[in-house]
Amino acid sequence: MRLRNIPGAKDELKQYPNIVVQDPSQHKGSWKGVFNNENPIHVEVGTGKGQFLVGMSELHPHINFIGIEKYDSVLLRALEQVKDLDRPNLKFLNEDVADILNFFKKGEAERLFINFTDPWPKNRHKKRRLTYKGFLEMYEQILVDGGEIHFKTDNQGLFEYSLESFSGYGMTLHNVSLDLHRSGIKGNVMTEYERKFSRKGMRIYRCESKFRS
Ligand code: SAH
Repeated sequence: MRLRNIPGAKDELKQYPNIVVQDPSQHKGSWKGVFNNENPIHVEVGTGKGQFLVGMSELHPHINFIGIEKYDSVLLRALEQVKDLDRPNLKFLNEDVADILNFFKKGEAERLFINFTDPWPKNRHKKRRLTYKGFLEMYEQILVDGGEIHFKTDNQGLFEYSLESFSGYGMTLHNVSLDLHRSGIKGNVMTEYERKFSRKGMRIYRCESKFRS
């Protein structure tokens, strides 16, 4: 998601260090202390404007959520939604997912969400897809053994690629849906892209994939 660059966005994010955690590498291995409880941690990569995690953190108060978004102007929109809520189980990082190993140690997160990530349709750009095996290696490094990735997209090509990438990595696939909104799923929290695309009548693909325990 690209937004017009908002001058001063980074400075604004810094005004709310309880929500947008600064210098996250200093918390590697101690996120439970940051949240001040022992609850499981779920991470969303490519959070965008944060709608999914705002909904999830309300629905699941005993899970701690961390959203990672690299563009400060986009994350500012997430901050605006959250700053007046009392939502201690939700934090954001204004960082690149490529650096995720600097922020979490092995086993620190239990689940990872990837929602409507950029498809990078050209084959020569496939290493940039957040479901590319290089990213899966990193996710495996931060998740518990048997940790799960929950993935949603509107993009059929990216979905097909990602199923192959997950299974090629030795992950097992669960709850695969080629039309999420007609699958009878309960408790689905929509992301901003999901709302936009499904309003246009596009179908949403979803799967869960699980690393070896
Ligand atoms: N998850 C949201 C936004 C989807 S758009 C939704 O479903 O509506 C994809 C988002 O991922 C964009 O905001 C983009 O900036 C972010 N993103 C893509 N690659 C990233 C990376 N390597 N690190 C951090 N954020 C990334």
